[in-house]
Amino acid sequence: MSKVFVIDVSKCSGCYNCQLACKDEHCGNDWMPYAKPQPQIGQFWVKVHEHVEGTIPKVKIHYMAQLCNHCEDPVCAKVCGRSAITKREDGLVLIDPEECAGCGACSQVCPYDVIYMNEELSIAQKCTGCAHLLDNGAKLPRCVEACPTDAMKFGEEEEFGDLLKDAVVLKGEKGTGPKVYYLNVPGKFIAGTMFDPVEQEVIIGAEVTAVGEGKEYTAVTDDFGDFWLKNLPVGTFDVTVRAEGFKTVEFKGVSTEKSVNLGDTPMER
Ligand code: SF4
Ligand code: SF4
Ligand code: SF4
Repeated sequence: MSKVFVIDVSKCSGCYNCQLACKDEHCGNDWMPYAKPQPQIGQFWVKVHEHVEGTIPKVKIHYMAQLCNHCEDPVCAKVCGRSAITKREDGLVLIDPEECAGCGACSQVCPYDVIYMNEELSIAQKCTGCAHLLDNGAKLPRCVEACPTDAMKFGEEEEFGDLLKDAVVLKGEKGTGPKVYYLNVPGKFIAGTMFDPVEQEVIIGAEVTAVGEGKEYTAVTDDFGDFWLKNLPVGTFDVTVRAEGFKTVEFKGVSTEKSVNLGDTPMER
């Protein structure tokens, strides 16, 4: 049995309620033996990251709340010379504030940068999964309870069943087995606008094809002449635009390292 967090990025409005609720729960509150108080400034046990993709006017923003992943194989625990970090039976990974000597070894190896050093208390601190609440009958951690859009969920991994089929984890290649799952993380996009320079009009219904990374993606320009090739992987694409009565336009080797706005492009007759 393992507790997991499930965060649906498509439902997150970026309200920061989770971040604030965590602060409210832990700043100035001593929850020993689980955690000593979080300082007012400098620590975010859950942090909402804003991701801005594209360039004006073709911009998309999404938000991702990030916290300790309560990893299956926590590398932070392995390097602690005082065995101060343990993974509980319910899956939560805790730092024992009494055992921690504040050496910082754990914060240096955590691939997610979610361990903070409290210089005043000489201890490492991070998300506790609100274990002090769960062990006293609460069903949910404060951050999950505070989420107004149901973007954050928490529970036994088995309970989520098929929902986790398409979930992704962050930095899975690090091999720590993160237990914070994300749903509907947007991929990269290639966008643009096609227009007729003679008539000074946008071109509606042009067929756009992107070929790359072994797949083909298609879109059609809308009433504003805009196209959006969405949810692309990171890679290199050849983009072709065809419209009846116009010469075909090609964009070769478009990189999606970052989402791309190809801008306004004329199509000649
Ligand atoms: S995310 Fe970092 S701090 Fe949390 S359990 Fe994994 S390795 Fe440890
Ligand atoms: S589970 Fe608790 S400690 Fe962890 S981020 Fe949420 S509110 Fe903060
Ligand atoms: S509380 Fe929910 S909707 Fe608001 S930022 Fe956090 S995860 Fe997103």
